[in-house]
Amino acid sequence: MPSDLVTMDKIVSLCKRRGFVFPASEIYGGIANTYDYGHYGVLLKNNVVGAWWRAMIQERDDIVALDSAIVQHPRTWEASGHLAGFTDPLIDCKTCKKRFRADHIEEGQCGRKPSKKPGETPECELTEAREFNLMFETSIGPVKDAGSTVYLRPETAQGIFLNFKNVLQFARRKPPFGIAQVGKSFRNEITPGNFVFRTLEFEQMEMEFFVAPAEAQQWHEHWLKARMDWYTELGIRPSHVKLRPHEADELSHYSSATSDVEYLYPIGWSELEGIANRGDFDLTQHAQFSGEKLEYFDQQSGERYVPHVIEPAAGVGRSVLAFLCDAYDEDDLGGELRTVLKLHPALAPVKVAVLPLVRKDGQPEVARELHAAFKRAGLQSEYDEGGSIGKRYRRQDEIGTPYGVTVDHQTLEDRTVTLRDRDTLTQERVAIDELPGQLSARLAAPWRSPKLAA
Ligand code: ATP
Repeated sequence: MPSDLVTMDKIVSLCKRRGFVFPASEIYGGIANTYDYGHYGVLLKNNVVGAWWRAMIQERDDIVALDSAIVQHPRTWEASGHLAGFTDPLIDCKTCKKRFRADHIEEGQCGRKPSKKPGETPECELTEAREFNLMFETSIGPVKDAGSTVYLRPETAQGIFLNFKNVLQFARRKPPFGIAQVGKSFRNEITPGNFVFRTLEFEQMEMEFFVAPAEAQQWHEHWLKARMDWYTELGIRPSHVKLRPHEADELSHYSSATSDVEYLYPIGWSELEGIANRGDFDLTQHAQFSGEKLEYFDQQSGERYVPHVIEPAAGVGRSVLAFLCDAYDEDDLGGELRTVLKLHPALAPVKVAVLPLVRKDGQPEVARELHAAFKRAGLQSEYDEGGSIGKRYRRQDEIGTPYGVTVDHQTLEDRTVTLRDRDTLTQERVAIDELPGQLSARLAAPWRSPKLAA
C-alpha cells in the first residue's frame, strides 16, 4: 500500500475504535490539543518507553536513570533561558477572537463559519505579532503573589542539569556519562495539534550525555546514528525516517549543532526527536544562577572543565504516532479488506490472542488454560470467545497482535492448536506444551516490516 493511503483520519479513527487514544474530556466537548490513552494505547506507549529505557540503561553501562520533579525552583527557568525566550509569536484576530501563531499562520482556521484562513477576508482584523511564553504558570501556597509563581516544566532536561552534581558525586560517574529521564512536560501550544503530534501535555524521553569538550562532536555523531538505528530496528522503514541538520538560523541559542530525526507523517516530514550539541550552556548557566560549581575535575590529568552536553530528546506521543503510521496497512484478502497494524512484536500491545473456535465441547477450558500459561511465561495474552473466528482475528489484526492461537475440536484429541501469524497469515499446528517457549522465541527473533517487501 503506498504510504499516502495512511491518512491521519484513518489513524485517529482506528485509535478511537480500538481504544488506543481518546480526545480528553470528550463528554464536555473536549479540551484543546489534549488526549487520553486507553488500554491498548497505554500498553503500546509502555512498550515504546520500555524499549527506550532498554537502549539507554540495560544495554549500556554509561547512563543512569533519573525521575526529577515537574515543578522546580523558578530560578531554573531564568537560568535556562525559558522565562525570557521560550516564546512563540502570536497574532490575534479582533473579529473572530481567535489566536494564531505568526509563523504557522497558513495552518490557522478562522473562528467564523464557513471557515476562513486568518486574514482571508476584509473583515479579519489581525494584530501585530506579540511574543507569548509557552510555559504554564501556577503558584505554590495559599497566596497568589509574584513570589509564589512556579512553572510546569516545558522539558525534562533541566531537572537533569540540576542533578548533575548529585550524579557525579553519589553515582560516582565521570564523563563520558549520561542521565536519562522519561516524564511529562507541558507547553501552552496554540497551533493545531495534528492528533498526538502536538499536545499541551506530553511525555518526553530525554538523555543528557556529559562529555569532555574535545569529544563533543564525536559523541554527537555517535548519538545521531544510535537514535536512527533505534527507530529502524523497531520497524520504522528507512525510507520514512531521516536526519535533518538545522540551518544556522534555526539553531537554539544554546546549540552549536542540532539534527532532527524526522518521520514522514501523513502531515509530511516532521520532527520526531531533536539531537542537539548543547555545549556547556546549561551547566554554566545553572552554575552562575545557583552559585554551585558544576564542573568535573579529572584527578588523573589534573584537568578541570565544564562538560559539554549531547542531548537526544524524543517525544513519546510522536514516537507512538510514527510507529502506528508505519505499521498501518490495509490488505485485500480475496475481496475482503483487512486493516492491520504490522507493529514490531516488541511494541505490539498484545503478543498473543487465545481463541476457542466454539464456546462449547471443552474448548474454552483448554483455551483458558493456555491463556494462563502465556501469562505465566510473561506474555501479554488476550482471551476472546465473542463472535465469529474471522471477526476475532480482525479485531486482533487491528490492534497489531502478532500471533493468534485457535483451540478447536482436534485440540481435544491431540493437544495441538493452530498458530496464526498476523503478517504472513500462515497457520500451522503446534503442540500445546511447546507453545509458550516457541512463542517467546518467535517474539524475540529479528523482525523487519513486511511492508518493506511490498
Ligand atoms: P516543535 O518544533 O515541533 O514544536 P520542538 O523543537 O520545540 O518541537 P523539542 O523542544 O526539541 O521540540 O522537544 C523534544 C521532543 O519533544 C520533540 O522532538 C517532540 O518529539 C517532543 N515534543 C515537543 N513539543 C511537543 C508537543 N507539544 N507535543 C508532543 N510532543 C512534543
